[in-house]
Amino acid sequence: MSEYDYDVLVLGAGPGGYTAAFRAADLGQRVALVERFPELGGVCLNVGCIPSKALLHTAAVIEEAASMEKHGVSFGEPFIDIDKLRGFKDSVVKKLTGGLAGMAKQRKVDVIQGLGTFSGAHEVTVETADGRKTLTFRNAIIAVGSRSLELDGMPWGDPRLMDSTGALELEEIPLRLLVVGGGIIGLEMACVYQALGSKVTVVELTPGLMPGTDPDLVKPLQRRISKRYEAIHLETAVKRIDVADDGLLAHFEGKHTGKEMFDRVLVAVGRTPNGGKINAESAGVEVTDRGFILVDSQMRTNVPHIFAIGDVVGQPMLAHKASHEGKVAAEVCAGEKSAFDARVIPSVAYTDPEIAWVGVTEAEARESGLKVGIGKFPLAASGRAIGIDRTEGFTKLIFDASSKRIIGAGITGPNAGDLISECALAIEMGAEAGDIGLTIHPHPTLSESVAMAAEVFEGTVTDLYIPKKP
Ligand code: NAD
Repeated sequence: MSEYDYDVLVLGAGPGGYTAAFRAADLGQRVALVERFPELGGVCLNVGCIPSKALLHTAAVIEEAASMEKHGVSFGEPFIDIDKLRGFKDSVVKKLTGGLAGMAKQRKVDVIQGLGTFSGAHEVTVETADGRKTLTFRNAIIAVGSRSLELDGMPWGDPRLMDSTGALELEEIPLRLLVVGGGIIGLEMACVYQALGSKVTVVELTPGLMPGTDPDLVKPLQRRISKRYEAIHLETAVKRIDVADDGLLAHFEGKHTGKEMFDRVLVAVGRTPNGGKINAESAGVEVTDRGFILVDSQMRTNVPHIFAIGDVVGQPMLAHKASHEGKVAAEVCAGEKSAFDARVIPSVAYTDPEIAWVGVTEAEARESGLKVGIGKFPLAASGRAIGIDRTEGFTKLIFDASSKRIIGAGITGPNAGDLISECALAIEMGAEAGDIGLTIHPHPTLSESVAMAAEVFEGTVTDLYIPKKP
């Protein structure tokens, strides 16, 4: 018998944590998965990626049905039964979290529900419904994620002031919604509520929406939502919100000033890691002032038998990064020589149109001093995009012009989030423009735009006329 209760204890059951626990169990480890909430899946499955995508699908169908009018097919105004819609969203979440609980059982992973904190270098204490339990471990994997940043001076506690979790609860469809923060969460939820009938205003602190993303990728989205939303205020902040019986009064400062009443306000100004909430010091694990835990490429913290993965180890705070890191940590715990060596991690905003990017951005490539080559194929020249009447986006591939290797990509348009995977694979495989352009893509598809963007860079494209430079 081992001197410890478990070979591997995983703290937190989000996409990083449950992946780590399942992989460790598959490698023959005795595993405990400690989660404070009754359901597995963390923010992503319960109050993040999954419910938001269920609602974004509803938004997309409403928009698409309305757009059919100009093709001669009218469906009339949608009737929205919000309870039924919420029920569907909840059923999606339940199906997935239930599936996880089943898979944990099949793998003989011990799921322990309760808030877990370290109480020693090989010990976690869990506040369970049946009292305090102390579990000992040989290795631990910290997968405690992040939480929404709360802006100071806001009337938190008033149900009309929401973070992303509150917005996904879909308690009502407000007449006027203010979204504070023009990042991914803010713009995805704005998209949902606008389609459901809210008049939406977005306030963003910086000069552009989705800062850090190439501005040309964001432009088609901005153009579309500028027509649909009540207002988009850039370089503006919300100084304060006053509570009134008939709404929340927001005071703006910056480029846009004044005050306005809204029925609800969503604050989505970023997320902050939970590293400071687990008493990591008692295990000797160092946590930065901001709550991050630093790790090496094997996901080891400064304490060699304690690992950390996911949002708590740094940006980008994305589920697919966390799950890959979780596998690495589990494999290292089981004695394998794994390391996190992914070249790139794709990002997707599931807005309408979708925006996806991977590898270096064009701005980063140009700043790096590389000889940059760009191949850009507009969806206005794609037969498939014309057929579905969504021609406002494009596919852009970024090359190191000296080696002709792809180093980045960005796509704006329908299904961009699915299309970007090919670009990620191309970067991982060290593909050159010719490899992409000479790969036969089915016609007519949106995926052709990836090959054609490579052809634009190569100068071999025939679906566009690009005059030769003299
Ligand atoms: P974010 O960092 O993407 O965006 C926050 C935005 O708020 C930024 O544009 C920022 O400039 C702005 N901002 C900051 N302070 C402000 C203020 N006082 N007033 C107005 N604007 C302000 O953060 P998010 O949208 O909250 O998302 C959080 C995290 O979750 C991100 O790391 C993101 O990667 C992740 N996430 C990913 C997805 C996805 O992959 N589709 C979806 C949701 C969230």
